[in-house]
Amino acid sequence: MTPEEITAFEAKVQAYVGGEVSAPRTGKDDVNKAMIRHWAEVMGDENPVYTDEAFAATSAKHGIIAPPTMLLTWAMEGYSMAQTPAPDAKLDVQRELHAIFDAHGFTGVLGTNTRTEFYRDLRPGDQITSHQTIDSISERKNTARGVGYFVETVNTFTDQTGAKVGRQVFRVLKFQPNVATAEAKAATSDDAMPAAPARIQAPRGHDNAWWWEAIDAGKLLIQRCKQCGTLRHPPRPMCGVCNSTEWDSIESSLEGEVFSFTELSYPKFPGYPYPLVCGLIQLSEGTRLVANIVGCEADKVYIGMKVKGKVERVDDKTVLPNFYPA
Ligand SMILES: [Zn+2]
Repeated sequence: MTPEEITAFEAKVQAYVGGEVSAPRTGKDDVNKAMIRHWAEVMGDENPVYTDEAFAATSAKHGIIAPPTMLLTWAMEGYSMAQTPAPDAKLDVQRELHAIFDAHGFTGVLGTNTRTEFYRDLRPGDQITSHQTIDSISERKNTARGVGYFVETVNTFTDQTGAKVGRQVFRVLKFQPNVATAEAKAATSDDAMPAAPARIQAPRGHDNAWWWEAIDAGKLLIQRCKQCGTLRHPPRPMCGVCNSTEWDSIESSLEGEVFSFTELSYPKFPGYPYPLVCGLIQLSEGTRLVANIVGCEADKVYIGMKVKGKVERVDDKTVLPNFYPA
């Protein structure tokens, strides 16, 4: 983009700041005991103030309250959020804003942080409404993911009297994936075609760089405690069984089975093939790892399926262990 194009683009997106994302949305259900109980069960939160009427009555809360972290759920749109809108449907302001970013090459989106404030306990019978506004768009930033802008959305929650009960700030980075690499390649290559986007690179630090370096060399290693022999993954400095920090590694046979899996469909990241099946693989050595399941239709994958891994190059920058039906 030329400096003039950048100025025009920034003026266009900044015009959205302060605007409402959509009309205030009131929850389909009041705060209620059934949803609180389901949440507490799923989260494994056994605090009786959420579920035990008699206990809650004698507690400092004087009755059942909702877990504070349920705040967002009370005014959520539900499964319709995940559906792709019809091509002629009017986009909500956030989607409209993201579409402008996308059209200018800022196709990547990465949630970077959220901050939630709780002003009072919510109780069964409360009716929650969310009010979402685009709060700010940062100046142009050079990040490890690429050039982009941080977009901050603020969600304010009110009750049936209109009083504020909480607030959440949500920040995403809208970025141009790998643009620096693509531009550099275009400058040196004959056909000047931008490079295909690569996958997001796993951060390599003191404790795991050795593991990724072995992957680059075509080997899937499993860390092993030198003192008690326990295998562990992902790599970490200390044995969880005997606390020893002495370790070596063994090479995996790459044989295993699908312990669990999910198909990632939204949002679609540049550089990834879809359908994208992400599995938790139970290796025959005993440890598990997260890896893509490839070489078969996504709907043919099942829990318990025998798989065989192959450490292979998936794009210009990335080597990964992929697992195929055995
Ligand atoms: Zn050990």
